[in-house]
Amino acid sequence: MYYNTFIPEMESELLKLDDLLGKITAYAPDADVSLIRKAYYFTQEAHCDQKRKEGKPFFEHPLAVASILADMHLDCKTVAAGLLHDTVEDTETTVNEIVEIFGEDVGFMVGALTKLKQIEFRTREEAQAENFRKMFIAMAEDVRVILIKFADRLHNMRTLRFMPLHKQKLIAAETLDIYAPLANRLGMGWLRSEFEDLGFKYLHPEIYEDLFAKVSAKRQMREESVMSLAATISEKLKQHNIPARVSGRVKNFYGIHQKMQSQRVTFDEVNDMLGLRIITQTPEQCYITLGLIHSLWMPVPGRFKDYIAMPKSNRYQSLHTTVLGPSAERMEFQIRTEEMNLIAEKGIAAHWLYKERGRQVEKKDAKIIEWLRELIHLQKDSKDAREFLEMFKGEIFSEVVFVFTPAGEIRELPAGATPVDFAYAIHTHIGNRCVGARCNGRIVPLKYQLKNGDTIEIITSNTHSPSRDWLNFVVTHKAKNRIRQHIKVEQRKQGIELGTSILEDMLIRNKIKLATLKSQKMLDAIALLNYKTLDDLLMAIGYGKLSPRHVVNILSPEKAANKTEPAEPSKPRKRAAAASDKGVRITGVDNMLYTTAKCCFPVPGDSIYGFITKGKGVTIHRTDCHNFKRSALIDENRIVSVTWQSEDSSVAQAKLYVETMDKPGMLAALTSVITGFNINLSQLEARSSQDKHAHFVFILDVRDKPQLMNLSSKLLSSEGVISVNR
Ligand code: MN
Repeated sequence: MYYNTFIPEMESELLKLDDLLGKITAYAPDADVSLIRKAYYFTQEAHCDQKRKEGKPFFEHPLAVASILADMHLDCKTVAAGLLHDTVEDTETTVNEIVEIFGEDVGFMVGALTKLKQIEFRTREEAQAENFRKMFIAMAEDVRVILIKFADRLHNMRTLRFMPLHKQKLIAAETLDIYAPLANRLGMGWLRSEFEDLGFKYLHPEIYEDLFAKVSAKRQMREESVMSLAATISEKLKQHNIPARVSGRVKNFYGIHQKMQSQRVTFDEVNDMLGLRIITQTPEQCYITLGLIHSLWMPVPGRFKDYIAMPKSNRYQSLHTTVLGPSAERMEFQIRTEEMNLIAEKGIAAHWLYKERGRQVEKKDAKIIEWLRELIHLQKDSKDAREFLEMFKGEIFSEVVFVFTPAGEIRELPAGATPVDFAYAIHTHIGNRCVGARCNGRIVPLKYQLKNGDTIEIITSNTHSPSRDWLNFVVTHKAKNRIRQHIKVEQRKQGIELGTSILEDMLIRNKIKLATLKSQKMLDAIALLNYKTLDDLLMAIGYGKLSPRHVVNILSPEKAANKTEPAEPSKPRKRAAAASDKGVRITGVDNMLYTTAKCCFPVPGDSIYGFITKGKGVTIHRTDCHNFKRSALIDENRIVSVTWQSEDSSVAQAKLYVETMDKPGMLAALTSVITGFNINLSQLEARSSQDKHAHFVFILDVRDKPQLMNLSSKLLSSEGVISVNR
């Protein structure tokens, strides 16, 4: 029986080469250790006149790092690179030398680790972010780089007390912030635990000491109870011929601390602090063991978790259950196979273990490697290192949900993901066109949070495009990026179209030929005004950032100079811009970019007002819109009067709330009424309420108010419809 409790700082006792080689040959009897021997002497020589903070020879640090890597049973190249990891940074040695003497692989690892430290930055935060990004890229190339970095950080944490206090805090915070969750994400349970406890100890020494004392006291008290349960279950397992190792375990200090914080409980209320771990041989034996435990003691409801059938995203597999012991104390059991245990402790490092007889773990690592690749792809999209770091933190902290496609394929998404995230995860095209979703056969809103085991079907429409609102609820970076991209492109298109029509209008009024837009004169004007392209200039006009008159003045200075009266009012030209033109004429304000409000969805025929919104031009609201009334109270100077302008071809978006009885076929009935009016349905949300009613929200492209009213009354007269409102 052992406790894998926190091991008090194991300072690098002076390890001799023989000790290191002994460690390696213990797990790799046939390893060629000449590489390590060479690296040992090379490193010792290179660092010979350097000392560490505590005054000991610097060489002890790389030696301790190599020893940690050997404890992790890693291959000889990794251990050698661990020895050499600081030589290029701190001594005269070059990477080329390392490559020549120790080969490409070792050279790459040492080079990557060196590059991480050499960058100069204005702020520490910036340095940390950039360093981290670099580390990440190197890691995707060769995962062993991160394993060495982990060992380096671990030894630095174990000897952190020699650092000045303010540095202790910074390094401890970084360890808790990045290294511990990253170790967890890469499936290295023991390392995460030690990073957390060391980081916790230096960041909050008082809380740590207090907890340490309490855990020691409680452990003595409860050790007996753990022992007796262990004896009972061991006996039972023997009776059933199930080979198993039974051991006691204690939750790490940081884990207890976090639980007290997040669940607002006192120390005495943390009841899964002590537990038992049973390691057996096959998954079947795990389930049999679980049955035996439940037959001996009463399981606590809601505490059983089957991570064998549903592994965690870092591939952790185990059965967890909590039972009430003989004196009603709670005890957590973890049950898993040897192989699952190996993965739980070693994680991605298992990939680089000195190869032992036929192990299956390598194939499964493909999933983590794939995750790394995907992150690398994402980092190309992020603007700077800091954004990447934020994103990465999001990724390593997030829990996941597993959902199914209608074809039964399983998909992994971060917790909190919505059908829109799911749609984008499948394909950008599907994301961009998604209008609704069915979860286990029922319509759910697009912002529904997916649950484990949901089967999700995405409803798409070819005429639909992503909405800005989606940014408020999507959680995956892929969805966020794609939606933003789409909005940007759309906005630019609209801006250019509007700018074109405004500028053309102005040219005509000043009797300048439209062909001027394609002339050298125009190119000169673009350059003079500091725009890159004609489109950029047109967009600036569309957004109201550049006055079209200014452009005309440059194109034709004489017209501007002798102009005393306004150009003759031309008939309002039918605008070329179909996308942005909902047929509104704004009086009093010349040619401004406008949008119709998404709160009240005005359509031609409604009584309307415009409201000037900074950076967005004029927003058109219905006069009875609550949002508009509120805004108007704040600043009535920004109200402009606007009128509808009759145009045959234009459509406006309208929103309808429909409440119906919740019964099958309801949605189909409603959509058939809508399509009967030849109205395009551009967005749809649905939910059902407690009272067995279904609530639908439709966003429709309608011609005008009369058409919308006709549709409303037709919908209201359909069977099962309770109410129809705008
Ligand atoms: Mn180092």
